[in-house]
This record gives sequence, C-alpha cells and structure tokens, in this order.
Amino acid sequence: MKKLSRKEFIKNTALATGALMAFNSCKNESAEIESPNIISKKHYEWKMVTTWPPNFPVLGEGCVAFAQWVEAMSGGRMKIKVYGGGELIPALQAFEAVNSGAVEIANGASYYWAGINPATQFFTTVPFGMNAQQVNAWLYQGGGLDLWTELYAEYNLKPFPGGNTGVQMAGWFNKEIKSIEDFKGLKMRIPGLGGKVLNEVGGTAVLSAGSEIYTNLERGVIDATEWIGPYHDYKMGFQNIAKYYYAPGWHEPGSNLEFMFNKREFDKLPLDLQTILEVCAAKLNLMVLSEFEAKNNIYLQKIKDESPAEVKILPKDVLNHLKNATDTVLRELIERDRFSRKVFESYSKFKTNIMNWSNISERLYYNDMNQL
Ligand code: CA
Repeated sequence: MKKLSRKEFIKNTALATGALMAFNSCKNESAEIESPNIISKKHYEWKMVTTWPPNFPVLGEGCVAFAQWVEAMSGGRMKIKVYGGGELIPALQAFEAVNSGAVEIANGASYYWAGINPATQFFTTVPFGMNAQQVNAWLYQGGGLDLWTELYAEYNLKPFPGGNTGVQMAGWFNKEIKSIEDFKGLKMRIPGLGGKVLNEVGGTAVLSAGSEIYTNLERGVIDATEWIGPYHDYKMGFQNIAKYYYAPGWHEPGSNLEFMFNKREFDKLPLDLQTILEVCAAKLNLMVLSEFEAKNNIYLQKIKDESPAEVKILPKDVLNHLKNATDTVLRELIERDRFSRKVFESYSKFKTNIMNWSNISERLYYNDMNQL
C-alpha cells in the first residue's frame, strides 16, 4: 500500500469529509445538524465531589484517575477537579450538591440517599442478593441501569455504575457473635438495606461517612462497624481497635458504586464528551473491582499476621436469621414504596434467572476447584 505523505493524508481526509458532508446534506437537505454531534472547541471545567475521604486508596484515587482519563481522551476540553468528602461540602451532601448544580459530578454509593428515596438502595446492593458479576449483568444488560436512570431523572441526575467492591466482610466487632441475640442493642455503622436488617434483629444502624468511622469506633460511639473488605479495612486501621473481623458480607455481596452527573449539564454536552464520561465510568467500574479482588487476600493475611484481631465466620444459624429479617425488610419496603417495588421485581426476577445459570457454572466450578 502506498504510504501517504502527511499533506496527502490531510488532503484525502478533507476530501472524504467533504464527500460525507455532501452526502449527508443530499440525503437530508432540510434537516439541521443536531448540536450534540458537533465537536466544539468549548472547554469545560467541572467539579466532582466524592463521599470518600480525600485521596482515599482505590475509591478516591480512582476518581482522580477518572478525571485524568477524561482530560486525556477529550484532548483537554474537559477538566474535572476532584474533591474528597468534606473538602468542598460534607460527604453525605453530594446528592443535593449535584442535584442543585453546585457541582456537576459526584462519586459515591446510592444507598447513602435512602432518606431521599428508599429505592436508591437497590442500586448499591441487596443483602443476600447478587454478587458483582451478577449486578453488572443486571445493570448493563438486564434493565437495572434503565430503572436507575428513570429514578434519578426525577432529581435532575444521570447515573452510571462507577466501581464495585466485590463481596464485602461482615465487619468489625468487639464481642463474639454466637447467636442472633448478640445483635440486640448493638450500635453498628452499617448503611443501606443491611442497616434496616440490623434494626429488624434488634440492633441500631448508624450511617456515617468513611472519615468518621474510626474515631466513632475507638471512642465507643458505635460498638461495631462494617466497611468494605480486607484491603480497605486494613488502611482504615480497624484491626487496631476491634477484636473480631467477621465474614461473609451478607449485607453487601457486591456493592455497586455510582457516578451521578447533573442531568441538565450532562445533556448539554457534545455527544463525544458524554460518551467519554460514560466510557471512563465503565473503566473505573472494572478497575475498582479488579483492585479490590487483587489485594483483598494480601491484606487479609496482613491483618492476621500483624494484629491481634481474630478473623471469624458468622454461624449458619445467624445467617439464616439475618436472611429471614432481610425478607421482612424487603417485603415491608416494597409494600409502602411504589418505585422500590418496581426495582425489586426487576432485581429479583433477574436474580432468579441468573442463579439458574450461576448454579451450574460458578457454583459447580468453585465446588470442583476445592476438590482439585
Ligand atoms: Ca460496606
């Protein structure tokens, strides 16, 4: 093939572009070119708040990486300044900040907004629900993201999945959990539907942002906390102030994290910038899960080796009680909230369907691997 000089290449490209434009104008003479498709030279300087402490490993760092990808892919046309929780606004005011347009983007977890609309909780995780792989399948391929988009549109927000923790740990306790009775009177930091389940079994769920948990646990403001998994929990230092570290994360089997954009501002962007934001969000979704999966075992071992904290597994009987309480919480929620019912029906139908497949693929594979 003949190698084109730079001049010839530009000339040919210009000819081809001209021909394409002529073709388009012949094809649709009266139609105006829609403005979102024009790559304009307009520059955007956006602000992003997060619910994570500043420069937090994986989650905060991931948001900074997201901003760098967007700037590189847009050729510098979009610059995003990232603020950790508390730097610009308190962490748990992110929803209002994006809704009002004070900032254009936030990264966090949708279950933090249960007080604004209880249906938001389903888009993070459901106790005893789907894992990361299954949740992504529901969101991207099973109508989950469509429902989330419909819900957030009511608040002038546009959501995208923006990270996943994988299966979490049940959390840090200072007393052993031998029966469901041990949850009675327990004051624990645990957000979302998991928190409602804790209340159902006699505990008191507290919602606090990441930056406040360590001090609250150390000072006895709370008796127990969950956070994510070994990598992040080690960085938070919980192994130095709690006696027991329990598995499994029944309450968060694969928590989807979120990007939310101010919908009015997002819709005004040219199509290429909208696509860049969506694609970079999907990249972060994969990167966050990969980093947690890659590092959790390394840090589980460090917790075992470096701290007196004891790693334990919740008794089967306790998990059965928690599952029954989860069913009660979900039943009550969908009875009183119309949109929660709509989302739950989609979620549970998808879960039943995918579990039929997972039982003969993932489950058999894990079981067989143990025999090898
Ligand atoms: Ca958690």
